[in-house]
Amino acid sequence: MYDNLELWWVTGAQLLYGGDAVVQVDAHSKEMVAGLNQSGNIPVKVVYKGTANSDKEVAALMKAANNEDKCVGVITWMHTFSPAKMWIHGLQALQKPLLHFHTQYNKEIPWDTMNMDFMNLNQSAHGDREFGHITARMRKPRKVVCGYWQDPEVQEHIAVWARVAAAVADARDCLILRFGDQMNNVAVTDGDKVAAEQVLGYHVDYCPVSNLMEYYKKVQDEDVKALVAEYKRLYTLVPCEAGEEIGEEKIWNSAKAELAIRAILKDTGAKGFTTNFDDLGGADVNDPNFLGFDQIPGLASQRLMAEGYGFGAEGDWKSAALYRTVWFMTQGLTTGCSFLEDYTLNFDGKRSAILQSHMLEICPLIAAEGEPIRLEVHHLGIGIRKSQTARLVFNSKTGSGVTATIVDMGNRFRLIVSDVECIKPKPLPKLPVANALWIPQPDFQTGAAAWIMAGGTHHSIMSYDITPEYWDDYAEMLGIEYLHIDAQTTLEGFKKELRMNEVYYLLNKALM
Ligand code: MN
Repeated sequence: MYDNLELWWVTGAQLLYGGDAVVQVDAHSKEMVAGLNQSGNIPVKVVYKGTANSDKEVAALMKAANNEDKCVGVITWMHTFSPAKMWIHGLQALQKPLLHFHTQYNKEIPWDTMNMDFMNLNQSAHGDREFGHITARMRKPRKVVCGYWQDPEVQEHIAVWARVAAAVADARDCLILRFGDQMNNVAVTDGDKVAAEQVLGYHVDYCPVSNLMEYYKKVQDEDVKALVAEYKRLYTLVPCEAGEEIGEEKIWNSAKAELAIRAILKDTGAKGFTTNFDDLGGADVNDPNFLGFDQIPGLASQRLMAEGYGFGAEGDWKSAALYRTVWFMTQGLTTGCSFLEDYTLNFDGKRSAILQSHMLEICPLIAAEGEPIRLEVHHLGIGIRKSQTARLVFNSKTGSGVTATIVDMGNRFRLIVSDVECIKPKPLPKLPVANALWIPQPDFQTGAAAWIMAGGTHHSIMSYDITPEYWDDYAEMLGIEYLHIDAQTTLEGFKKELRMNEVYYLLNKALM
């Protein structure tokens, strides 16, 4: 899963208590790191990097962490009192995510035997406050996890941070290819790609659709045949209302598009892509030399998302990158995530909900279990090539989810996260696309109003597996604004938060 990644564990101590004490600190640390790894609860391997007893040792460790690509984050723990001025230079140098773990080797106080020597050696309660002060004073982004290291609930907080740290590292080595530009005139999905690379990590490149068409042209018939056979194994094929021949042709061409897009993503090393329904290659489908997609490559987008490629429709590169991040940080969790779009409202008092869908591109990872995924071909009357179009149709899972978007506010990126309750929609016999129906928390009026006041997109990335804690950690690591709309949100409080944040982000840099 995260096989090649590591978290570095550094134990803070000092030489005041003598070499014997450091030997014990070292032994305890090794046992704790081994315990975390053996718990199976931390998805990234924790590597013990020794005790840090001086300014030079701390600085050397932090610089080494920066230089090691495998290291996605550093965990610090103060076994004894570790005077924190010795951490200043190391923390100034550290560019990897930081987790300050406030724990202790022994679970309970050894009431009958504890003497001053024991207390001096096991004084995390004291040492972690000293370390906490310097990180606070330096305004160092970090997560603070407090609790006993063997407690699974405590380990879960580390696991969340580990997943987010892995995804942040993944985004720093991430290319998003754009086949076509932003949908004309759309504001919310656009933004500053230079700032995105500086702050969020990923790189966005334009790729002419004509380049993609070169791949499309070269797709081999036997590969298309094999992929169509795979579709038939995986999905329930629904007879095409326009005729069997048209249905087969559309599915064939969709498979060909999938192979072409996957091939260009592999060749360029891209981890995500965007499409635009107004830019599908070619000009006139009736031209004998026509070289373009005959339909929106929606089926390809659905399947590539499930494989982990980021996807954003209508040129939405921020959503493509965010999908990749959500998929990456939920590796090994099973309930799924998808790109979705707020489409249509259903007013029903306290159960008022928003239908989430898209023209085609919903990820089948969120499909309800135990129900067949249908492969259907229907007319799609939008975009440059109105045509019969193949797509996967399914119902999505119900239950709680968390949806997220990132918008560019001009002077900063804003992450907006909304807790949602996915409920079962009624059948939609005339709308053959996958969808989800959710009630934003705490209710439609508050949840939707807060999202709109924050300037949130109509596109978002929803996951059933992650909790808001993931997004809190993500925003902390990247230093971006984080707004969370949940069951406790009130519009009055949310508006205050928006106003306070405006001031905070103006002053923030001056404080550093
Ligand atoms: Mn859209």
